[in-house]
Amino acid sequence: MHYIVFDLEWNQAEGRIGHEGGLPFEIVEIGAVKLNRRMQIVDRFDEVIKPKIYPRMHYMTTKIIGLEKEDLENGKQFPEVMEQFLKWCGRKYMFCIWGTLDITELQRNMCYYGMDELTHKPLPFLDIQKLYSLAFEDGKVRRSLEYAVDEQNIVKDEPFHRANNDAYYTAKVLEQIHRTHGDVESYLSYDLFMLPQDKRDEVKVKFKTYSKYISREFPDKSEAMQDKMVSSTKCCVCGRPTKKIVKWFSVNGRHYYYVGECKKHGYVKAKVRMKKADDGNVFVVKTMKIIDQDSLDQIKGKQEKLRLQRAERRHKD
Ligand SMILES: [Zn+2]
Repeated sequence: MHYIVFDLEWNQAEGRIGHEGGLPFEIVEIGAVKLNRRMQIVDRFDEVIKPKIYPRMHYMTTKIIGLEKEDLENGKQFPEVMEQFLKWCGRKYMFCIWGTLDITELQRNMCYYGMDELTHKPLPFLDIQKLYSLAFEDGKVRRSLEYAVDEQNIVKDEPFHRANNDAYYTAKVLEQIHRTHGDVESYLSYDLFMLPQDKRDEVKVKFKTYSKYISREFPDKSEAMQDKMVSSTKCCVCGRPTKKIVKWFSVNGRHYYYVGECKKHGYVKAKVRMKKADDGNVFVVKTMKIIDQDSLDQIKGKQEKLRLQRAERRHKD
């Protein structure tokens, strides 16, 4: 198995002109670094793509990525580069990127050209920007790649904002996280370009102290909340039923919370996020994790605030 750290440069529609056939970003460069299990760089990949959909480079793009017109003119066609890239990736690999966007746009570009899908369900990958935050910050803040490179004293011998170099720097940051924190795969992310079509393709993963579930689509929120798996409140570690502490409630109709208590593992928080699919249906991303007393108090506070607001509104009516 290899880690494939990649980065894309893209071009976009100019001004307010609508974008072509659902493709707002056209990839003009794929840069990647291949790492082995010990996080050693074993190969690199870099190809420029000749733009076809937006032949005129957006002036911001030109300024940022420093690709000259001639570079692009000499580039290959996207499908050709993509096939070459996938062949280079090998049989077993895990994509790693800085943030979450590139993995969606890669699939969107493939789809535009009618290429076979990478997958027919959510694609697991490592978001190095998130891992960096979990390793060195509060887990929530998102830093720029250059910030992380500076903080980790990684030698800056190549300019930023070229796919090949950004992939290289991202790989260096990943190596650093691996060296200082070990296991990097306990925080897998899932790209949602392809949603689970049925129960079989749903994502159910369990880590040490939390679990994640990505559901198939439902016609609406209430039907989703009635689903057994969505509303299940079993402990995310041992699977035993929890004793209800805070019953399911929603702050804004998009996020739902529940807290229960497991005899063995303490407080367990469930959070359901309702998401809209392109076809108007909804699907659910549910996370469950073990929380401490402080976090429980915060949730109770949230619920109490909501209760007061509702009471006030009733009073006004
Ligand atoms: Zn438990």
